[in-house]
Amino acid sequence: MFDALAERLESAWKTLRGQDKITENNIQEALREVRRALLEADVNLQVAKDFIENVRQRAIGAEVIAGVRPDQQFIKIVYDALVEVMGESHSPLAHVEPPPTIILMAGLQGTGKTTATAKLALHLRKEGRSTLLVATDVYRPAAIDQLMTLGKQIGVPVFEMGTEVSPVEIARQGVAKAKELGVDTVIIDTAGRLQIDAEMMAELAAIKEGVQPHETLLVVDAMTGQEAANLTRAFHEQVGITGAILTKLDGDTRGGAALSVRQVSGQPIKFIGVGEKVEALQPFYPDRLASRILG
Ligand code: GDP
Repeated sequence: MFDALAERLESAWKTLRGQDKITENNIQEALREVRRALLEADVNLQVAKDFIENVRQRAIGAEVIAGVRPDQQFIKIVYDALVEVMGESHSPLAHVEPPPTIILMAGLQGTGKTTATAKLALHLRKEGRSTLLVATDVYRPAAIDQLMTLGKQIGVPVFEMGTEVSPVEIARQGVAKAKELGVDTVIIDTAGRLQIDAEMMAELAAIKEGVQPHETLLVVDAMTGQEAANLTRAFHEQVGITGAILTKLDGDTRGGAALSVRQVSGQPIKFIGVGEKVEALQPFYPDRLASRILG
């Protein structure tokens, strides 16, 4: 397990060897290696620093267990801390009675938000939950078309009102429609911008205020790397999220964005996107990603 990290710690662990306690002095080098590994995995610098501090505190004073190599013990401490920071188990989606459960999708343009909306609907259907998708991106007719196409593809109805009605109104009417149809969950896709801007945040906040969703999911492109932390902070402070979906983990990123998202917002990553197809959505398991981040 963690061959890459173990290899990195090769020289560091010489200082751990023969010790009966892990001390400040003998883990300096090892901590530096972990920090390097995190940065290479695209974890935000500040997030990595905070994490290292957490590990330092756990490690110092730990008794070296007889028969366990101290470097292996140290790796276990790092791994456990990472899993814990990312949330110990898979966090399920809200499911309320009476229906509908309302899910608001947020995120920058191009992150995979619209695709994730359809993926989520398909996932819920497999759990026996019916959905209605709502298209509120009135700035890009192509985005509405995209959602309609995806809806058709997976056999899920899409509610839209064109581009002349305000997104808040479309969202409200979408929820009313969901009640009328008796569907279990309504998922509201929203407009994204290429960068965070005040107008987008205000609009999202207004939609949130208007429909009082049970989940506000931030869609984050795992390739965003270091920026994932700032992005999450902005959305969490200005809109408030209850979880995230990390997309494009089928790419070659090691997924450090997950740690940033979790540490900055305190909210769990609920799903990961692992491809362009609508089936390519998986529940997020912190232990699997911890292994990937540590290499
Ligand atoms: P939006 O602007 O945030 O709604 O983004 P889209 O849903 O339109 O997705 C942007 C692009 O990313 C499209 O080409 C998608 O096929 C692609 N995409 C979305 N999710 C994933 C994923 O998990 N993996 C990969 N490789 N591509 C994805």
